[in-house]
Amino acid sequence: MNLLDKITELSREIIYIYRDEHVKHISFLARRNKILSVGINDKTCTHPMSTTQFQRLHSEVDAISRIKDKKILSRLKLINVRINKHYEFRLSKPCPSCELLCQVVGIKQVIFTESSDKFPVWNILKL
Ligand SMILES: [Zn+2]
Repeated sequence: MNLLDKITELSREIIYIYRDEHVKHISFLARRNKILSVGINDKTCTHPMSTTQFQRLHSEVDAISRIKDKKILSRLKLINVRINKHYEFRLSKPCPSCELLCQVVGIKQVIFTESSDKFPVWNILKL
């Protein structure tokens, strides 16, 4: 099974497990075909552009914070998945803050889902 198929399957399972906690956005850090870290958005997260006063943890930050040896981050790629409650894929491009964080830690490539129904459509952001 290739990496993106594995990530698609894992994402559907995570969305199901956290279905009552509004988890919609998941980030994976991977090297070649191996997933080294998984991050989910904070359960109080609504939308990255939301202007509520709550501090929200974005899935990218969660995934990056779980890597102990930050030196390896520059060799990893970030894969983002957003799935809604109908199990449809939605745009998961990093927000400007997370994009900046990725650049600062040396991540050079983000693969993210576009809006599509049953199967993910992937796009690539080069940093
Ligand atoms: Zn973000």
